[in-house]
Amino acid sequence: MSQHIKTELPGPKAKAMIARDAEVISPSYPRDYPFVMSHGRGTEVWDVDGNRFLDFAAGIAVCATGHSHPDVVAAVREAAGEFLHISSDYWHERMVGLAERLARLAPMGEPVLSFFCQSGTEAVEGALKLARYVTGRSRFIGFLGGFHGRTMGSLAFTSSKYTQQKGFFPTMPGVTHVPYPNPYRPLFAGADQGQATLDYIRMLFERNLPPSEVAAILIEPIQGEGGYLVPPPGFLAGLRALCDEHGILLIFDEVQSGVGRTGKMFASQHESVAPDIMTLAKGLGSGLPIGAVVAKRRLMQQWTRGAHGNTYGGNPIACAAANATLDLVEGGYAQNAAEVGEHFMAGLGDLARTRPCIGQVRGRGLMIGMELIDPAAGGAPARALCDAVIERAYHNGLLLLSCGVSTVRFMPPLNVSRAEVDEGLGLLAASLDQALAAA
Ligand code: PMP
Repeated sequence: MSQHIKTELPGPKAKAMIARDAEVISPSYPRDYPFVMSHGRGTEVWDVDGNRFLDFAAGIAVCATGHSHPDVVAAVREAAGEFLHISSDYWHERMVGLAERLARLAPMGEPVLSFFCQSGTEAVEGALKLARYVTGRSRFIGFLGGFHGRTMGSLAFTSSKYTQQKGFFPTMPGVTHVPYPNPYRPLFAGADQGQATLDYIRMLFERNLPPSEVAAILIEPIQGEGGYLVPPPGFLAGLRALCDEHGILLIFDEVQSGVGRTGKMFASQHESVAPDIMTLAKGLGSGLPIGAVVAKRRLMQQWTRGAHGNTYGGNPIACAAANATLDLVEGGYAQNAAEVGEHFMAGLGDLARTRPCIGQVRGRGLMIGMELIDPAAGGAPARALCDAVIERAYHNGLLLLSCGVSTVRFMPPLNVSRAEVDEGLGLLAASLDQALAAA
């Protein structure tokens, strides 16, 4: 389809690499199609056989500044030339500078402290430990469809697919899941799914989940892996009020939605709701492994020496990448995500008008989901179609991933151009039509 695809896919070099991988790596990683990376620039990537693709998956929303942004590469090079590592027993400029910047950007409306780690799941573990430590309570509320990582604490909350928990019970005890409000597929009667969810939590509080035992509520302010769900307006504020009423901490997992992805620095800022604790990772380092727990100072300062820690937190190269990333995100990329995201959503809206299999287009900024449905089956999720569209898109030169049951998600680099979005929309339309024709 695309003039940039030159070989049959996968090409011979890709096939050879995949065969080697099968001997030593698979099947730990779920891979939906055989893309074998050679190199990337911005939103474009090339496979080992010389085929060019548009990357609307961006390393699962990690490559916030595009592939190998020259500013990020320069910052990493400079840091690497100074020292590769000094443990978190010591201080250095890039780590302190990054924490100062996060303190300025954080949406808490009061002073915060930061703790650095390497990944999203570690950031969530840190947040959970902090919540238990400072409240002395042991129970939590999480959300169905949530994804927070795969270590034993975060895994207890993760429920976007059953396969994630299956075989690993018991996970950390004490987690009660409640539905994530989804007006498109409502679970509760009535129009206001947000209010109904809050009422449901109140009902739990009266029956079997005493709020005085609940340390925190952990939520993605836009649910990511579970389907790119934007909560109804007012829901996050309602949760905030509920937490305040009962001395429960509110943790926003912004691992996927943070750092400009939704067109604002943090997704919570669309609703002006301040969490007590926030987790970051993914886009923060443009691809270098870094995560952060950002918490109100009055909470995190209660961590006594040795209560929590790690070896690599604040790694200078990862911090250099994060500082360069935040320069770019603050300097215009968040704004670009807002503007180009709107253009993208409008383009998807146009596609939806002539293709009834597109049930809903939703999202904010460049965190966009397109839920595919079967209109002949009462609008049931069209999982096979979703898989087929993603497969066809690969063959057409567009890298996509899914989320939820049948949602194609779009999370290109934050500096993607309108022209690239238009090219991607063209490839997507062709992929959709080919998948429908083959169904
Ligand atoms: N939280 C959220 C919201 C995520 O989307 C993810 C990863 N998809 C994680 C946590 C876990 O991050 P990691 O894979 O870096 O552990």
